[in-house]
Amino acid sequence: EALDKLIDLKGSIRVFCRVRPLIPTSNLKTKSLVTVEQEKITVQSVGIKKEFIVDRVFHQESTQEDVFLEVKPILRSALDGHNVCILSYGQTGTGKTYTMEGTDGKLGIVPRAIQELFSHASEDISSTYSFSISMLEVYLGSLRDLLAPRQPLFRHNECSTASNISILATKSGAVELEGLTDVSIPDLKKANQCLTRLTIKRHGATEEISKLWLIDLGGSERLLKTGASGLTMDEGKTINLSLSALGDVIAALRRKRSHVPYRNSKLTQILSDSLGDGSKVLMVVHISPSEEDVSETVCSLSFAERAR
Ligand code: ADP
Ligand code: MG
Repeated sequence: EALDKLIDLKGSIRVFCRVRPLIPTSNLKTKSLVTVEQEKITVQSVGIKKEFIVDRVFHQESTQEDVFLEVKPILRSALDGHNVCILSYGQTGTGKTYTMEGTDGKLGIVPRAIQELFSHASEDISSTYSFSISMLEVYLGSLRDLLAPRQPLFRHNECSTASNISILATKSGAVELEGLTDVSIPDLKKANQCLTRLTIKRHGATEEISKLWLIDLGGSERLLKTGASGLTMDEGKTINLSLSALGDVIAALRRKRSHVPYRNSKLTQILSDSLGDGSKVLMVVHISPSEEDVSETVCSLSFAERAR
């Protein structure tokens, strides 16, 4: 039974690491600081040698297919009625959006997951399914509905959509986002911090509803660097706060703490029924192999280890 519990614990929150290929730059020596040996990642630079262990590592040559193979089983859980959260974490430029959305011909998790869910649903003759999609962004602590019809007043700003979303929690702990647009056909838009939610309804003898969250988190770099990533001070600060709140929630869940601090950020409030009991979480922590990013790389890997 103890072993079952261990396997169950392992199964509910998993932390992967993906190393971005080295992008050659003219002024720096192009040498990777990061080496990978199975689940162990070693970061080695002048005066530093640190080792980190995660559940699975994708090295620089790993493909989108390799990543998706590990994601597939968790999609089954979503079809079976569990809430599922797949989160892309890391410093700006390390491949969070590449992993979630991908590029033309190198599709990421979001388009592959949608395709996989539809194809599974069409093969399952014992149940019928319906899917709907929502997209939102947590921006400076408020929620933006990325699929809401554009308001002419807000046209000057790409991302601005008038929205009035309230976070409601039912007695059973389920979270409802009242006022959030829910459409049946995906209309993918880019955002700084994009939360894609797929609601899955399975109609069999009973009706089961589950949520699949596919989340491209804001860049995890600390304030000094936000200038370089094009974020303002306020944007950087609120993203940092919500990421540390997320880290605290996951760490509390991993350690089976009785108090889980969901209320410390909008992000963790929204996800409170999709991170804990009965749900499955997969966090992909992205790192850069270059010298100039070494301190952020160590921070991201420390975050990964704390989440494990
Ligand atoms: P982020 O979303 O974390 O800011 P991006 O996903 O935009 O980072 O990635 C930065 C750049 O690196 C993009 O041009 C992207 O296509 C490229 N890139 C990231 N990860 C990979 C990878 N594993 N293989 C090939 N190219 C990648
Ligand atoms: Mg991005």
